[in-house]
Amino acid sequence: KRSQNHVSEVASSPSTTNNKSEKNRVATNKIKIGFSMDTLLEERWLKDRELFKVAVEKLGGEVEITAANGDDALQISQAETLISRGIDLLVVVPHNAEAMAAIVNKAHSAGIKVLSYDRLVKNSYVDLYVSFDNIKVGELQAEAITKLVPKGKYVYIGGADTDNNAHLFKQGVFNVLQPFIDRGDITIVFDQWTKDWVPTNAFANMEMALKANHNKIDAVIAANDATAGGVIQALKKHGLAGRVLVAGQDADLAASQRIIKGTQTMTVYKPIKILTEKAAKLAIKMAKGEKVKTVRKVNNSKMEVPSVLLTPIAVGKDNIDETIIADGFHSKREVYQHI
Ligand code: BGC
Repeated sequence: KRSQNHVSEVASSPSTTNNKSEKNRVATNKIKIGFSMDTLLEERWLKDRELFKVAVEKLGGEVEITAANGDDALQISQAETLISRGIDLLVVVPHNAEAMAAIVNKAHSAGIKVLSYDRLVKNSYVDLYVSFDNIKVGELQAEAITKLVPKGKYVYIGGADTDNNAHLFKQGVFNVLQPFIDRGDITIVFDQWTKDWVPTNAFANMEMALKANHNKIDAVIAANDATAGGVIQALKKHGLAGRVLVAGQDADLAASQRIIKGTQTMTVYKPIKILTEKAAKLAIKMAKGEKVKTVRKVNNSKMEVPSVLLTPIAVGKDNIDETIIADGFHSKREVYQHI
């Protein structure tokens, strides 16, 4: 079993500063970070945007942010614009793990390093990956659910096939489920990706799963809280909300409220503030031309990418107060207001 301490940045040492960064800094006197985001249509990414900006500014840098709302071509052209405006470093949350490889090449041609934020850019020589341990996210979900229902019919509602995280979450879930499946205790009766992570697609998949199994399902592991919301909507329609276990992740406000209400069993809380602070610190360091060394590496099909992976936290009704609420991620009033 791996150790709990996944924060693995070790040391850094100054090296030569690249010319482009130097030139830009002389003009503005500030390190400029470009932040190319996939979407702002989901709750968590609004937090990422806000907190990342604050974290970079606290370190004396400035940040220009774009969001493509799921459009690959737009995300690429927005990132090109950031590069052409003389940023010192590019931080990317790829909508499509493969498509954004093109941007890594473009940035490198312009002498700009690229930090893969939360989601890994695949098939590229991306310089650094900063995220949570996404395999662990899936493991936490499956551990929580199998503890409560160690036998029965399970549904897996995956994330977007185009997002590398969705593959890591799934890997984690099945790391835990496989021995139960092998013993014949758990049967996977439905297993589908959710196109673009859209809740209505998860709802449609859950409807299909219920129909195919004559509503006899014991537990659902959904790749995030947005898709869990779609799943619970479908369960509600059939009078099953609260009677079928459901796992999600992100600690979205609606999911936190559902946990209190009892229609969602658990979520996985990823403290976004820590992620943004870590990413901002390392982004500024790299922008200055300093080296960043990591202990962890994650394969992106082209190379072993130096990685910093933070630890996610399983949250249910019993520990929501001391985690999500104690951290101020959501207020107690907001979380409990609907009961
Ligand atoms: C993130 C999740 C998020 C999902 C949908 C994943 O890459 O890690 O936190 O819910 O994308 O935006």
